[in-house]
Amino acid sequence: MGDGRAATRAQPDGAVPRGRVLRLVETRPARPRPTALVVPETVPPPAAVPVAAAPSPPVPRPDEPTTVLVSPRDDVARAGEAVRAVWARIGDREPELAHFFGALLFTLAPALRDRFPAQSGPAARRLLRAAVAAMSAVDRPGELAAGVAALAREHRSLGLDGSADEAVGVALVGAAREFAGELWAPGADAAWVRAYSLAAEPARRVAAALPAVVDATVVGHRRLSWDLAVITVAPDVPVDYRPGQSVTVEVPQRPRLWRHLTPAGAPRADGLLEFHVRAVEGGWVSRALVAHARCGERWRIGPAEGDLAVDAGAERELLLVGGGTGASVALAVCEGLAARAAAGVDVRPTTVLIGGRTPDDLHTLDRFVEIAESAPWLAVVGACESDPLDPDLAPGTVVDAVARSGPWHDHDVVVAGSPAMVRATTAALLADGTPPERIHHDPVPDDDV
Ligand SMILES: Cc1cc2nc3c(=O)[nH]c(=O)nc-3n(C[C@H](O)[C@H](O)[C@H](O)COP(=O)(O)OP(=O)(O)OC[C@H]3O[C@@H](n4cnc5c(N)ncnc54)[C@H](O)[C@@H]3O)c2cc1C
Repeated sequence: MGDGRAATRAQPDGAVPRGRVLRLVETRPARPRPTALVVPETVPPPAAVPVAAAPSPPVPRPDEPTTVLVSPRDDVARAGEAVRAVWARIGDREPELAHFFGALLFTLAPALRDRFPAQSGPAARRLLRAAVAAMSAVDRPGELAAGVAALAREHRSLGLDGSADEAVGVALVGAAREFAGELWAPGADAAWVRAYSLAAEPARRVAAALPAVVDATVVGHRRLSWDLAVITVAPDVPVDYRPGQSVTVEVPQRPRLWRHLTPAGAPRADGLLEFHVRAVEGGWVSRALVAHARCGERWRIGPAEGDLAVDAGAERELLLVGGGTGASVALAVCEGLAARAAAGVDVRPTTVLIGGRTPDDLHTLDRFVEIAESAPWLAVVGACESDPLDPDLAPGTVVDAVARSGPWHDHDVVVAGSPAMVRATTAALLADGTPPERIHHDPVPDDDV
């Protein structure tokens, strides 16, 4: 640990002292997989490509609402409504539907199978989900851009171009029709095809405009514990990202399984990217990276993603919470703020809370210490679950630290870590009275996709 780490008492007014790392002072009582895709024997024969003719009016069933597929508005509205109406009835069977969709897709276009990972189920489900979300928004301009962007990312990560559209569209419609059964009204084929083409065309344009995937060489692999490694890569050309954004990576050990990783630190002059990788239980990519990544191997790195934008000079105080490798986000943001301070910006008061199960997990603490030593705007707290007697660390989880050390309701908060940690921290902050619109984190992925 750096010399700047010192146990520090809370100030009389409860303010967190700046410019040093402090032991968390308890000012308040603690508050109270997917399976491989197998072509089902019952896959229907490839449907004829539905012809995008003018949709005919659906025949309402006597016991069904009559409005869902019948719209006096133009065909764009009709298409969006048709997708939403059907999905509202079948979306809860998404896992089976995605399985059927994938099987049908590979029956229709066997060559596309190679674009998917060995375990194709999760990728097929993400593609289906992104397509349906974009199709559901074709008549909702406020939602369409985000839906199209997400679909574009799926197209991009699978390397799908316009030649895949017909098979994907037919498989989508075929799967939805199969699961909708009697709910599938006569005009639904044409409406779904229309919605797919309305979503897929702009998605292709967006995908084509995304920054190129960059090749990179692994130049460092430091294993800190059995499940944690720091991996440094040198991209062939600089990767453009803002502090706190993540990139997607594809590694030779697991072809076509793209995963998000967050560069630990702000962009560097030498262009190197450092990733802190935790092996999660049963994890396909993370376990391979921690155990088997080697210097010299080549990675592919996708464009930066994420909307965590931190205004260095804003009035409101800032809280950065990082659990495990989520500390990479806090470190990147902190280095970004330090660069702004060096450029003369009066940086907002900032508190960093990072947590780990073991002291090894807190390996970034020294880097925060270094920044804090010349940053009067920064206070840093490390919390460790397995070392409750270390006087320099707060005991327990980072979520405990958040709950004990507020109030945070006047802060902007950035949270990063495992999905469970983000959920628990968000809950603790909400209980503390922090308004939800001030709590920022990357989308929490579903556990099953
Ligand atoms: C925006 C973003 C940034 C990320 N940055 C980093 C980073 O800097 N370093 C890093 O190590 N990881 C990071 N992740 C997580 C990473 O992308 C992978 O999800 C993680 O490495 C697991 O991938 P896997 O292939 O090993 O596991 P999978 O084979 O995909 O999943 C195996 C099991 O692990 C569970 N699981 C998946 N992800 C996690 C997780 N994060 N924590 C606990 N359980 C999980 C799954 O639900 C499943 O049960 C980030 C994720 C996102 C969304």
